[in-house]
Amino acid sequence: MTAHATRVLVLNSGSSSVKYQLLEMQDNSRLAVGLVERIGERDSRLVHTPLTAGAGGKRERTGKIADHTEALRAVADELARDGLGLDSPELAAIGHRVVHGGLKFSEPTVIDDGVLAEIERLVPVAPLHNPANLTGIRTARELRPDLPQVAVFDTAFHTTMPEYAARYAIDTETADAHRIRRYGFHGTSHAYVSRKTAALLGKDPSEVNVIVLHLGNGASAAAVAGGRCVDTSMGLTPLEGLVMGTRSGDIDPAVTFHLTRVAGMSVDEIDELLNKKSGLAGLCGDNDMREILRRVDEGDERARLAFDIYIHRLKKYIGAYSAVLGRVDAVVFTAGVGENAAAVREAAVAGLGPMGLAVDADRNAVRSDEPRIISPDGARTVVAVVPTDEELEIAQQTFALVGEVRTVDA
Ligand code: ADP
Repeated sequence: MTAHATRVLVLNSGSSSVKYQLLEMQDNSRLAVGLVERIGERDSRLVHTPLTAGAGGKRERTGKIADHTEALRAVADELARDGLGLDSPELAAIGHRVVHGGLKFSEPTVIDDGVLAEIERLVPVAPLHNPANLTGIRTARELRPDLPQVAVFDTAFHTTMPEYAARYAIDTETADAHRIRRYGFHGTSHAYVSRKTAALLGKDPSEVNVIVLHLGNGASAAAVAGGRCVDTSMGLTPLEGLVMGTRSGDIDPAVTFHLTRVAGMSVDEIDELLNKKSGLAGLCGDNDMREILRRVDEGDERARLAFDIYIHRLKKYIGAYSAVLGRVDAVVFTAGVGENAAAVREAAVAGLGPMGLAVDADRNAVRSDEPRIISPDGARTVVAVVPTDEELEIAQQTFALVGEVRTVDA
């Protein structure tokens, strides 16, 4: 009997968590989704949700899961209980989200020892992310050494940025010696959402200029011209750009010297301050936009100021990228905040009528999982909401690379 290998397992390995989805590529459906969190702690937790008919509901397991190897084994066990184990012949490949691909990786790449070494070489520019991604890949390769494993890079979509957008205006020799430049992140999402937006407009991606606002806990904007990224707000690391849940986004770099000299803070303390204790959380104590909107409604001044600072930054990027693109066909909101917070969308384009930007209040209030236009009919620039799906994008890119060559005997 011949089984067609048409499934892809997508793994997103963080420093203390692994998120996963098993997808069937014949119809892009999910067979199972899950999460292992607090890896290495006593109260680790695995939540597994099978989505196949008759598999039953969500299963949860708590208790120490020592490391990523144990975590992936536990995931494999859960999948096996539903007949979806890593040894099933239908599994075509494992697709890994890798945060930093540097300049080298502009495409999804089948992982071999050379690719692993290159991802390792990038650890100094992505110290928080690439080590965890590497651990996930190594563990998956131990479990299924024969299976194609593909790395899909968060930076890849941004490698088309022109040199004048990617370079910081600092001494070239120093920059090159330490690979300092703007790489950008959330590329998988920006690629997926900009393509979907073109489809929503009934056009080919090559025909449209789009500003994508990916507003999750991390947030970034991208200017996409004819399907290619020409600028994005995150830089060497995911700290630059928009105000985020706990990250400051843009600040004067001299703030760091000042904190060292005047407050006696160490580099690590400043790193922690700007990445974990800043943004919305630093400004008002909450990083969840739902909570902030609730507080704003109650008249809370700190939450109001945090919201205003968030929106002001967002507006500046919409303006900047309008100038970068010249003609903007669509401004599109995505990710947790962008897809759900109508108040953020409304505020972000308020007053931008002269630039051709406006939202229709009724359309903006609609809640839906579908891509949708929220600007009034006939607007010069379409404003839209397009839900992102990074896992599907990773699965599709992985499958496009390895899927068709894998028909196996079962
Ligand atoms: P991540 O960057 O962790 O992938 P998501 O894209 O899932 O984040 O976005 C998570 C954020 O989305 C939450 O922190 C919350 O601020 C925001 N969010 C989710 N649902 C809503 C909602 N209904 N209204 C406003 N904000 C929301």
